[in-house]
Amino acid sequence: VDRPNLQGRLETLKVHTRKIRLSEDVDLKKLAQATAGAVGADLANLVNEAALRAVRNGRKMVTQEDLLAAFDTVTMGSEKKNARSTEIEKRMTAYHEVGHALVAALGKNTMPVSKITIIPRTGGSGGATMYIPEEDKNLYTREDLLAWIHSLLGGRAAEEVVFGTMTTGASNDLQRATAMARDMIARYGMSRELGLLSPTVITNQYLDGQSSLDCSQELAAQVDKAARALLEECYAFDRQLLTENRALLDEISEYLLAKETITGDELMTFVNADKEEKETPAEIEE
Ligand code: ZN
Repeated sequence: VDRPNLQGRLETLKVHTRKIRLSEDVDLKKLAQATAGAVGADLANLVNEAALRAVRNGRKMVTQEDLLAAFDTVTMGSEKKNARSTEIEKRMTAYHEVGHALVAALGKNTMPVSKITIIPRTGGSGGATMYIPEEDKNLYTREDLLAWIHSLLGGRAAEEVVFGTMTTGASNDLQRATAMARDMIARYGMSRELGLLSPTVITNQYLDGQSSLDCSQELAAQVDKAARALLEECYAFDRQLLTENRALLDEISEYLLAKETITGDELMTFVNADKEEKETPAEIEE
């Protein structure tokens, strides 16, 4: 399914909001920017959800906040208001999410973070880090894919660096990182081990793009080995990066724990302040 671009999303939002009353603060263009990656059905759901939220709050008009909150509900499930989690769980979740975000923010191929949250959702997540998808980008470089793997592994890396343990919270990250590593090696011809060989067969292009390998068992074993080596290399790098930036990791995680949701701009304020501090030469004492 082709995802609509900015203009397409704006037009779709205009159509769906025609029949509801919008408050003056609503900026559909900003909403269209914030919903990159959404398809038409998501946007229709979003508008419905926003209208329900306004009604629940006893308002006759839908506000920008209703629309933005509705996007989170549509993409992640609604907030679990009465979810109980222990203090240590919250801390681990905060560090895990900041691990993802900080690895992305410190990397060379910046994947801009739009938001980090540790509010549990009915969709099952205890927290989430969201990125701003690059508009109209259809082609990804090896560096882009590596940056994605690094950021996916940043959550687990933070768990290990800070708490000296591993949690089940990383399972989805690991599945996605594994799939990406295997694709880089056995589909996109981006590894030393397989070179340009691309034994991946996409079995169902229209459902979830499931793939399988059409090759000898030896080659399949080689793919596994190469994928594992790639993941381990990325993970070791992340662990090192977070260890070196531990003060920054602590600072942002504490802030996230207090606020529960922070924006990508807030994240970058911390990152840039730290960078400036490191670049300013220490005063020479006479
Ligand atoms: Zn994660």
